[in-house]
Amino acid sequence: MTSDSQPPNLFDTVPFAGVKDGDQVIDIGLSTETPVCDFCSADPAVVYFPVEEFEIVHPGLIQGMAVVSGDRFYACGPCAELFEAGKLGGLRRRYTSLQQSAPSDSAVALWLGAKNHRQGDPVTFQPGTNPEQGR
Ligand SMILES: [Zn+2]
Repeated sequence: MTSDSQPPNLFDTVPFAGVKDGDQVIDIGLSTETPVCDFCSADPAVVYFPVEEFEIVHPGLIQGMAVVSGDRFYACGPCAELFEAGKLGGLRRRYTSLQQSAPSDSAVALWLGAKNHRQGDPVTFQPGTNPEQGR
């Protein structure tokens, strides 16, 4: 169990993001073979949504630093359907059910940002492959 007074662990909630300090971006993404869903953090991703990169503040970071979104949000099948339908409440319930805890405010802020900064259609890929390879 995590305490409500603790800032959420970025590694738990933001699988493919970075932290920006001035002009430098530090990759904090999990080093998994294949992408995990950016929404529920539980299931392998099968699709990604291209987004215009954006930033959010995070209580676990020192002043002046920000979380940068990256330009893709990965999703498993069920989360992709919820995100496509704009159902952030559904994504929140799914996360809570799978992780036994509510998503952090930062995670929800990233989901909302992804919705607002979306660019174009979702891109499907073969489960078990990694579209990040060769980028
Ligand atoms: Zn998911």
